[in-house]
Parts: sequence; C-alpha cells; structure tokens
Amino acid sequence: MPELPEVETVRAFLDNAVRGKRINSIRVFYPRLIEGDPNEFITLPIGKRIERMQRKGKWLKFALEDGLAIYSHLRMEGKYFLGTPNHPERKFDFAEFDFDDGTALYYNDQRKFGRMSLVKQGEHSPFDELGDEPWDKDPSILVRDLSKRKDTIKQAIMDQTVIAGIGNIYADETLFACRINPFEKASSMSLEQCESILKEATRIMRIAIEEGGSTIKSYHPQDGVDGRMQNELLAYGAENRNCPRCGFPMRKVFLAGRGTTYCPICQKKRGRAFVLGVTGPIHSGKSTASKYFVSQGFILFDADACVKSLYEIPKVKSAIKKAFGRLSYKDGKLNKAYVTKKSKDPKYKAKLEAILHPIVIEEAQKLIHVSPENAKILLDVPLLYQSGMDQMCDAVLLVDAEESKRKARLIAEGRDAKAIMEINRSFPLAKAKKKATWVIYNDSTEDDFVAKLKELPLQ
Ligand SMILES: [Zn+2]
Repeated sequence: MPELPEVETVRAFLDNAVRGKRINSIRVFYPRLIEGDPNEFITLPIGKRIERMQRKGKWLKFALEDGLAIYSHLRMEGKYFLGTPNHPERKFDFAEFDFDDGTALYYNDQRKFGRMSLVKQGEHSPFDELGDEPWDKDPSILVRDLSKRKDTIKQAIMDQTVIAGIGNIYADETLFACRINPFEKASSMSLEQCESILKEATRIMRIAIEEGGSTIKSYHPQDGVDGRMQNELLAYGAENRNCPRCGFPMRKVFLAGRGTTYCPICQKKRGRAFVLGVTGPIHSGKSTASKYFVSQGFILFDADACVKSLYEIPKVKSAIKKAFGRLSYKDGKLNKAYVTKKSKDPKYKAKLEAILHPIVIEEAQKLIHVSPENAKILLDVPLLYQSGMDQMCDAVLLVDAEESKRKARLIAEGRDAKAIMEINRSFPLAKAKKKATWVIYNDSTEDDFVAKLKELPLQ
C-alpha cells in the first residue's frame, strides 16, 4: 500500500504529465470509484485546466480552475497511466480523463479499493480530515494528541488524523529509528519521544521521496518504474534478520492485524520482561533446553504442566464434560485415554484446544505481567505456533531432531514410539522453522546440544 513517499512519487509524475492540460471529457467505468455525485464528477470539471498536482499525506489533489478539485486516494494498488483517448488498455482501467492536447490519463485499480471525489470551492475536502505531515507537526501537539488515546504508539502514528502519511512500512521504520517498542501505550509518550518520532519520520520520508518510494510486493508507481527505498528499509520486512544496531534477530508479530517488525532488544518494551519461546516436535530436546535456560536464570512457564493442572479446575472440567460427554471424567479425574482417543477427530481436538488455549495464554500473560522488567521468561510450549503464543515472544527457539533419534529416545524410555510420533504428525514443522528465530538440531550428545544453546545471544 503506497504511503506518503510513494504517493509523492505519483504526484510528481502527474504534475509533470498533466499540469496545464484542459479536461475535455471524463469517463468512469467503475461507479464505486466515485464518492459523491457521479454526474457532477463527470460534468463540472469539463473545460477546466489542471493548475497543479498537490498531495497531503496519502491523498492526491488535482487542483483545477475556479477552485474545483479532484481528490484521489490510491489505497492498495491504484495507479495512473498516460495514453490516448478512448483506448483503455488495461483490464482494471476504471476512469479516463481526456485532455485538450489529445492525450488521456487512466486510473487503474486491480484491487478496487481506491476512491475519487470532486470537491467544490469552500466545501469540506479530504485534506481537512488529515493531521499535519511529520515535518509540519508540532511535537507538543503530538504529545497532547497521544495523551488522549487508548491504543499503541504504532496504531496512533498510523492514524491519519494524528500524522498524515505514515502507514505500516514507515511506522515500523520510524519506531525502529527511535528505539520505541511498537506496543508502548500511545498515551505514555514523552515530549522527547514525540520529538524523536517526528524527526525520524521526517528524515526517513525525505530519503524515501528521494529514492522514489518503496516498491513492495505488487505496488509499482508506474509500469516499469520501481522505487529504491525498499533497499534502505531497516525494520520492515527484516524478520529474523540481525538488527543492524545490536545484532539480535528482528522479530515480526501482529499488532492490530498488521505485521510489525521490531528489535526485541533495542526496542524493548518498558517494564516488560524478555520472553523466549521454546517449541519443537515431541522428544526433540525441549526439556533439556528448558533445563539449561532455567539454570541460566530464566523463569519457566511449562505449558504441559499448566494444561495438566487445568484439568482439575471446575470451569475446565465442566467445559470438557459438556464437549466430550460424561465419560471424559472418571472418579473426578480426567479419563485421559478416552479424551485422547476422541481428540484424534479434528473436531474434538479443536474443541479441546478452544477450552484450554485461552486459559494457558492467560496464565502465561499473568506471569509476564508480574515479572520484573529485567527478568527473562521461558515459555516451553509444544503448541507455540498453533496457540498463537509465538506472538507473545521476543524470540523463539525451535528444537528439532531427526525422527529416528526421537523414536530411539522414546523406545529407550519404554514408551509407545509409534503412537506418540503419530500424534506429533500435526506439528507444523516447516512453518515453525521458517518463523522461528533460531532452529537448533539435537542430533548428537547432550553436551553438544547444550554447547549450541550457549552460543545463542541470550546471556
Ligand atoms: Zn537491536
């Protein structure tokens, strides 16, 4: 999605391409593109000259004669192309502006999210709804704006009524530059931090404008025209790459549904302990890893132990009985064989997880909440990714071992290796390996394994 620098690239292109031209006709091929009176949109601008192209935040403005203006928001993938009249060349050309010099401008939007509107002199315009751009915003006013909010600093700086132009990419970049954790409360920001946010946002946006914006995924300002800012981004898209400042792997989590990348060390959240997640398939060596980290001062949260204790609490008992039937408890104790057998059916497995996961998550959150800022917490959670608890971690260690090694360990303990391995088939190993901060193989001796753990930058 284009943000301020990308829209500025489009503005500069349009200013060069259409400024001074007179509009002969307008055609709209996708009515929902237009907000307001569709008839006025295609009639009032006829015969008017485009005096200049302006931009505020992510909005474009075609400033026409007589105080008329066409506002355009590109949203996800809106683009403009020059061409000749009556020749829409692309599938998603949704609007056509023909000019007196025999050229035409097409608006193209594969995702159909973009919007345009005609605004007459003196009428309320989309610009009126925007906060100042980073270089115009007064830091003390930003402090005041943020003090009233209930959300996080990342959400607040992406709110266009607070600061115009910052979206997901430049929010991550700005907060990284300022060493501010994206989950900090917006209302907790000091004047110094607000000054830093505006200064860094300005600096980063200026570079981005010089570089022609960022070309991320499918967004190109023009066919064959790519920005170069994506090469300069330090946080956005840098999941698991080492932080250029401190060397610790960058972490990607979701904040209000948006991918958010930050450094867990130099953007550490104030007052919150460091959280390491350990996961992996059964008998890969998670417990050895846990033991090692506990010996290094980590506070252990053992999800399996937590689950076991949950079966005893009345709320869980009645929920399981309701989902699995009377037989799920025998003499007041969980009928483990029965519940395990039934849980082979994905429907029942999902029911069980829906009962247990929220409580496990809540318990882990409680522990993190009451632990001091300098504490290190270890979440030993086999279902770390399935439960979404990876989102609570500053780093994740995935322990893996060859299947034959894991099987041999189970057999050596006299356990039913085949059945246990079967249960573990559902472990999303490929996904976990891709997302984990570190993957360590436990294929040799315990000493060798611990030596690998010692090398992690967690001391
Ligand atoms: Zn760092």
